[in-house]
Amino acid sequence: MITRALVLGAGIAGIQAALDIANSGYDVALVERQPSIGGHMAQLSETFPTLDCSQCIMTPRTVEVGHHERIRLYTYSTLESLRGAAGDFTATIRRRAAYVDWDVCTGCGVCQEKCPWKAPAEFERGLGLRKAIYTLSPQAVPNKPVVNPAVCVRLRSLAAHEKPKCGACLKFCPTNAIHFEQTDTLVEEHVGALVLATGYDLMPPARLPEYGGGHVPDVIDALAFERLLAASGPTAGKVRRPSDGKEPKQVVFVQCSGSRDPEHGVAYCSKICCMYTAKQAILYKHRVHDGQPYVFYIDVRAGGKGYEEFINRAQQDEGVVYLRGKVSKIYRDGDRVMVWGSDTLSGRKVEIAADLVVLALAALPAAGSDEAQRLLGLAPGSEGFCAPPDGELQPVNTAVPGIYVAGAAAGPKDIPETVAQASAAAAKVLGLFRNRVV
Ligand SMILES: Cc1cc2nc3c(=O)[nH]c(=O)nc-3n(C[C@H](O)[C@H](O)[C@H](O)COP(=O)(O)OP(=O)(O)OC[C@H]3O[C@@H](n4cnc5c(N)ncnc54)[C@H](O)[C@@H]3O)c2cc1C
Ligand code: SF4
Ligand code: SF4
Repeated sequence: MITRALVLGAGIAGIQAALDIANSGYDVALVERQPSIGGHMAQLSETFPTLDCSQCIMTPRTVEVGHHERIRLYTYSTLESLRGAAGDFTATIRRRAAYVDWDVCTGCGVCQEKCPWKAPAEFERGLGLRKAIYTLSPQAVPNKPVVNPAVCVRLRSLAAHEKPKCGACLKFCPTNAIHFEQTDTLVEEHVGALVLATGYDLMPPARLPEYGGGHVPDVIDALAFERLLAASGPTAGKVRRPSDGKEPKQVVFVQCSGSRDPEHGVAYCSKICCMYTAKQAILYKHRVHDGQPYVFYIDVRAGGKGYEEFINRAQQDEGVVYLRGKVSKIYRDGDRVMVWGSDTLSGRKVEIAADLVVLALAALPAAGSDEAQRLLGLAPGSEGFCAPPDGELQPVNTAVPGIYVAGAAAGPKDIPETVAQASAAAAKVLGLFRNRVV
């Protein structure tokens, strides 16, 4: 029995599972494909229903992971292959070339300051720009940059066998940490158990042509709105619409955008949207006092502790107008975004000329999670999430002994449920290590 574990995915689920295992005295390899850890929670502004600052409650955990002597962090890395069985797995991990020697980089940020090339930042959902050499956020753990080969003109000139261009980062880095000759490396880890914690992604808006298909600039997704609300976001927490930077006075939130809609391939409820939409509408009202938020909903599902009260607060105390009905069409008209819907309670058709529309898009399994599950010997469930064979009594056990699942990798869920499931998966790993019970 090898009493080391591998956790795949370092969102809040992977972080919690890794910390629980490591704090019980076992070594953990934590593998994350992004340059830093935190997953979607790192993008959130404040969390429902307490409105705690997301970064503030997560930072103690990310910092603990970064310094933990029992956690070996593989960021900017993916799982290449896995062989073996419970108690004795061999995982091959691909560490992508960052073109920066992280052992000598001090994270001073000079390279990012000097780099003259910018591209849209995924972390900001395209609402902000980042340099060709970047860290995901100012609070990134680890706080070490990577070079994006698709944007860096030097790497592009080298790939085209041309005279090397730019090199500003190379010239100004005080520790000579930039290494354009770096290549991917493969590392082997021997572990006794794994936790799959690859999380979720939002449905691409292109799948909803009736809502603009991602082509109307002032129709954004809910994660983009989180970045507009976040103090560390591209507008420093000021709500501004992408097309012209104006403060939007009429904002329409559309729940169940793609969820509970078999025509668009997602029959299930994404579970988190009712709550985060209420949160976003409240936070919008706190930022824009004379603004009017509208929420279109099919019905409101608010099952957690304090959740129903939070929805009541949005409706009764914060002036959010809830309209029960589905939105049939969203399109641009001049500088407004027209929203056609119905209010099934009054039986009226509703048309709103909005400044900004926020889509609560369906939560899907993270891109590439089918491949991740295949590498672990798992067959994804019908919706693509990891489906435990006995979801009722063993919700974190997968079909492969020694491999457990946590968080949104098993289906959409909020942070408290994610953390509880991550601790449950960690407990299973510890049980396996101590008693050999799988
Ligand atoms: C707009 C919005 C607002 C929200 N607001 C709240 C809120 O206020 N309160 C609340 O409780 N919940 C909220 N949520 C839900 C919250 O985001 C999730 O509960 C939480 O992020 C789930 O954590 P996770 O670790 O399971 O998944 P994720 O956060 O998705 O993390 C998964 C991690 O795995 C990595 N990964 C994926 N695939 C691979 C791979 N193949 N190899 C290596 N790494 C991989 C990803 O890069 C990521 O870092 C909100 C969600 C949305 C969309
Ligand atoms: S300038 Fe050099 S040391 Fe500073 S963050 Fe960039 S790569 Fe690291
Ligand atoms: S070589 Fe130039 S473009 Fe490339 S990362 Fe360095 S400073 Fe940026």
